[in-house]
Amino acid sequence: MTAPRIEVDLGKIQHNTSCLVERLRTRGITVTGVTKAACGHPDIANAMLAGGVAGLADARITHVERMRKAGITCHISMIRTPMLSQVERTCANSEASFNTEMDVIAELAAAARRSGLVHNVILMVELGDMREGIMPEDLADVASQVVKMPGVALKGIGANFACLSGVAPNPEAMAMLTLLANDIEGSIGPVVEIVSGGSSSSLPWALGFGTMGRINNLRLGEAILLGVDPVTGTPIGGLHTDAFTLVVEVIETKIKPQKLVLQSVNPACSDLRLVHDDHWKTRSLLAIGHQDTEAAGLIFPLGITFAGATSDHIVVETRNNPLRVGSEMRLQLNYNALMRAMSAPGVTKIINPDRILINGIADSQCHARSILV
Ligand SMILES: *Cc1c(COP(=O)(O)O)cnc(C)c1O
Repeated sequence: MTAPRIEVDLGKIQHNTSCLVERLRTRGITVTGVTKAACGHPDIANAMLAGGVAGLADARITHVERMRKAGITCHISMIRTPMLSQVERTCANSEASFNTEMDVIAELAAAARRSGLVHNVILMVELGDMREGIMPEDLADVASQVVKMPGVALKGIGANFACLSGVAPNPEAMAMLTLLANDIEGSIGPVVEIVSGGSSSSLPWALGFGTMGRINNLRLGEAILLGVDPVTGTPIGGLHTDAFTLVVEVIETKIKPQKLVLQSVNPACSDLRLVHDDHWKTRSLLAIGHQDTEAAGLIFPLGITFAGATSDHIVVETRNNPLRVGSEMRLQLNYNALMRAMSAPGVTKIINPDRILINGIADSQCHARSILV
């Protein structure tokens, strides 16, 4: 089979989704499935839907359009504030978007009015990640402008944590989000239907012992796809961490010294020789590189150590069993490596849906098939 390829086990994605949906349901929290690391791959989106997410979200309109083209009709939100140059496409393809700029909201409203729609707006508030968000003291004012604007409807508020700063959300920040929801409603009425309390990094908080306050939604990508807590990288109990496997091919295996330098023996004439040290290692080349994934985000099998990467090669050292040229190696990926591999045209995506259960029945019409991006 062709390499490099990424093999996707939809059954595991569906399992992870339904586990998280069920655990959070008992806390009064719905799950929005975030498809951006999968580039809006329709099969992966459908596995999330089969697992019970309330809707989908992506950061890029191209990914949303890909899902729409594939016939996905569920509620989709844009979780990155839309570009002014893409307001038409945003309104046409997503029911809601996360916003922080009045100029963008006004253009979304105009685009929605032109097509006879109402676009839903969720206002993002800055609570310490220092990426996107309206400052908390300005939120009520922006909210009151949005509710007065024809073409858009204020649907809720949300916050993002641990993306830029890497700091996990704390109970105080979550309590603040509840306070802000109450504040807005105090001044303009019951308009805050959704209070979206962050991403996978909010799971330790949401599954902990604290009170949820008014938080009733989380936007989950990494926890569903990779089964880990993004802040610590630790696996979440009961979830699969191997829904994705990167398969690469070995193209060279040689025993080489650690160092090899070209020295001139006699500078007067061009008498050169190669000098090496005595640290001989078995090194192999894998036909994959920076163009295809984030090399530092790959998890190698036991006994294999990463030595370095360039645009088209990864070099590894092996201790016991030399890797045969033409053989394949199976790797796990972290979120960044996954995201880049999913978006790389040089990495074939292989979906094997033979284990997906739709309504508890194995769908026998789905055979393993290869889907090119
Ligand atoms: C990417 C993203 C998410 C999902 O993050 P995960 O860590 O993959 O769960 C949620 N919200 C926003 C705004 C995002 O950009």
